[in-house]
Amino acid sequence: MDALNYRHGELFVEDVALARIAEAVGTPCYVYAKNQLSAAYRAFATALGGHGLVCYAVKANSNLAILATFAALGAGFDIVSAGELERVIAAGGDPRRVVFSGVGKTAAEIERALACDIKCFNVESPAELERLEAIAGRAGKSAPVSLRVNPDVDAGTHPYIATGLKENKFGIPLNEAAALYGDAARYPHLRFVGVDCHIGSQLTDLRPFADALDRVLPLVRQLRAQGLPVEHVDVGGGLGIRYRDERPPGVAAYVGQMRERLVAHGLADLSLLLEPGRALVAAAGTLLARVEYLKSTDTRHFAIIDAGMNDLIRPALYGAFQAIQAVRDPGDAPTLDYDVVGPVCESADVFGRGRRLHLAPGDLLVVRDAGAYGFAMSSQYNSRPRAAEVLVDGARFRVVRTRETLADLWRGESVSGAETG
Ligand SMILES: *Cc1c(COP(=O)(O)O)cnc(C)c1O
Repeated sequence: MDALNYRHGELFVEDVALARIAEAVGTPCYVYAKNQLSAAYRAFATALGGHGLVCYAVKANSNLAILATFAALGAGFDIVSAGELERVIAAGGDPRRVVFSGVGKTAAEIERALACDIKCFNVESPAELERLEAIAGRAGKSAPVSLRVNPDVDAGTHPYIATGLKENKFGIPLNEAAALYGDAARYPHLRFVGVDCHIGSQLTDLRPFADALDRVLPLVRQLRAQGLPVEHVDVGGGLGIRYRDERPPGVAAYVGQMRERLVAHGLADLSLLLEPGRALVAAAGTLLARVEYLKSTDTRHFAIIDAGMNDLIRPALYGAFQAIQAVRDPGDAPTLDYDVVGPVCESADVFGRGRRLHLAPGDLLVVRDAGAYGFAMSSQYNSRPRAAEVLVDGARFRVVRTRETLADLWRGESVSGAETG
């Protein structure tokens, strides 16, 4: 299902013309298609059946309206900070369906998550385990724990988003994790309810997921044999999408393979937790921008747009490809190969090179597949207020985050500084 489509010569998201949104809200702005978000979630939930829980990875896109969309469908959430936990609660999500990942949880974050009775702490080091035990002891609580194991598999993805190799900072080596679980009695305020892993992002092949499970599931069997009541395995997120010509597996194939590995290891009753981020939101989001200038040099044609790398950093940070399309249907009009660039004072501020487009100054264009790690990674670099965000639902749209104002840029700052005592 594709929410972006040309009608009457111009691009629509669901049943709303992007030109209408630009007129009402201005540019740059992010536009999300609610029905596409819901369909993406349902594909995961349906494939999983009653065998576990889909925990949306909040860091991919943490707008409250997106979280509320998934919460209304019964989703769980994977968080990496107290800020994300408060967002989930503010959006009406259920904290008892939250799993908490990340290598650097502070004491305050752990206390808050414990008070909210979250579903599980995905613990990434022995030191974190000690901290969690101490805090749970003081609170007189029993904290649910999975150790995040590092299965040492190559996810075959960009090095910045590969997390399952032993040189990465994430997780605990398998043998060390086995020893920690074996010491469970040393942690009277912890309940070891699961095993967790997450090997990377934008994986377009099923193989590494299967390899990871084939390393993790024997540990689960071993723990159960030792009497630990392991209830779930959390396989993390990482399922890729098609940005250009990738051929990622479908959701049903992905979930089906996971279930099949559980059965093959004699663990059919084990509950399966999934933490998809990108696969739920990327394709449902579009960055809408306007062409400020066209500029040609001896060797290149540039389209300079009003969005910059501060709004969407993936192309600059990872050299990631995202498709770019004019909002006005080019039909048979002549095209040029444009480098589509932003106004930020960095040569990396490029959305795409050599893109065949028909453009005039003032035209609208979109950078597609921008729903994941788009707004969430945006900044005010170059003192550019962050973009507005819009949610389209059929023929209606709502602003779900207003454009930042210039005054927002220096909120909390002062010329002379505040007294600190
Ligand atoms: C980032 C992350 C995810 C989501 O990854 P996607 O590639 O967006 O699906 C899930 N779990 C953990 C622990 C993560 O760090």
